[in-house]
Amino acid sequence: MKIGFVGLGIMGRPMAKNLLKAGYDLIVYDKYVTAPDVIALGATQGASNQDVASKSDLIITMLPNSPNVKEAVLGEQGILSGAKGGTIVVDMSSIAPQVSKEVAAACAEKNVIMLDAPVSGGEPKAIDGTLAIMVGGDEPTFKKVKPVLEKMGSSVVLIGDVGSGNMAKLANQIIVALNIAAVSEAFVLATKAGVDPSKVFDAIKGGLAGSTVMSAKIPMILDNDFNPGFRIELHIKDLQNALDTAHALNVPVPLTANVMETMQALKMDGMATCDHSAIVRFYEKLAHVEVRKRG
Ligand code: NAD
Repeated sequence: MKIGFVGLGIMGRPMAKNLLKAGYDLIVYDKYVTAPDVIALGATQGASNQDVASKSDLIITMLPNSPNVKEAVLGEQGILSGAKGGTIVVDMSSIAPQVSKEVAAACAEKNVIMLDAPVSGGEPKAIDGTLAIMVGGDEPTFKKVKPVLEKMGSSVVLIGDVGSGNMAKLANQIIVALNIAAVSEAFVLATKAGVDPSKVFDAIKGGLAGSTVMSAKIPMILDNDFNPGFRIELHIKDLQNALDTAHALNVPVPLTANVMETMQALKMDGMATCDHSAIVRFYEKLAHVEVRKRG
């Protein structure tokens, strides 16, 4: 099976590498960057989304947001303009569930089947091949692509129809954002009280307050390391999709709205491209204290 891989950013690059290491034949393309490390592992360089699609049986996309996926799949020189009937597109980007449904419907008109399969776990789990992959689409297609997805993730779950993968991802992103905010507020308080934040982390990480989020983000915060990882601007994109989707369904989401404003403030302070663990910087500024490792 020839696999096309489109979008070689922070996530796409290690995911493509894991497919190459598993022995798959890959043709890759990114509109804005090159990935010599992926080519060095044996991938073929594609010339455009259309070129990749015309040479692949399965195309995986890992792009920033809904407009990028629309452009890459439906646009001029896009995937649909090159794909043969029967081709499968698995969009692993985190986008609005409604857009997944729209793009899948446009694909279906050309006998191309699309699944949405966003991921959770960030760059470290993309590198390890242990992402959590949440899939929407039809079951026979899911069964066909599951062995491929299992090379990138340790959990691959079919949730329901196309769009339901991104619905699960929005829930995931709300929980992650609120968890970082809660951890930040609590650690700022403990630090201001004169308690060593490293010791607080050691004491509570194994208890009920412990979380994957806390274990991933507190070490970064203690080291003053806000390199992404997952950029604040991407999390703002996810929360905007969450707010739009919630409001379209008449669901108020007050906590999501609150942390969205925190992220907007950080963006105003020039931190849009920092890791989302920089949420702590908002709380640090309020309390005039920094949650850092003690010398
Ligand atoms: P990124 O910006 O690093 O990579 C996206 C890549 O897509 C870029 O290299 C860009 O050049 C390329 N691109 C954009 N438009 C294109 C087009 N029309 N055709 C071809 N290539 C195009 O983003 P990322 O961090 O790799 O994230 C990708 C997706 O995964 C996003 O939806 C993000 O929300 C999601 N995600 C990211 C993380 C993380 O920790 N970074 C974790 C989970 C999910």
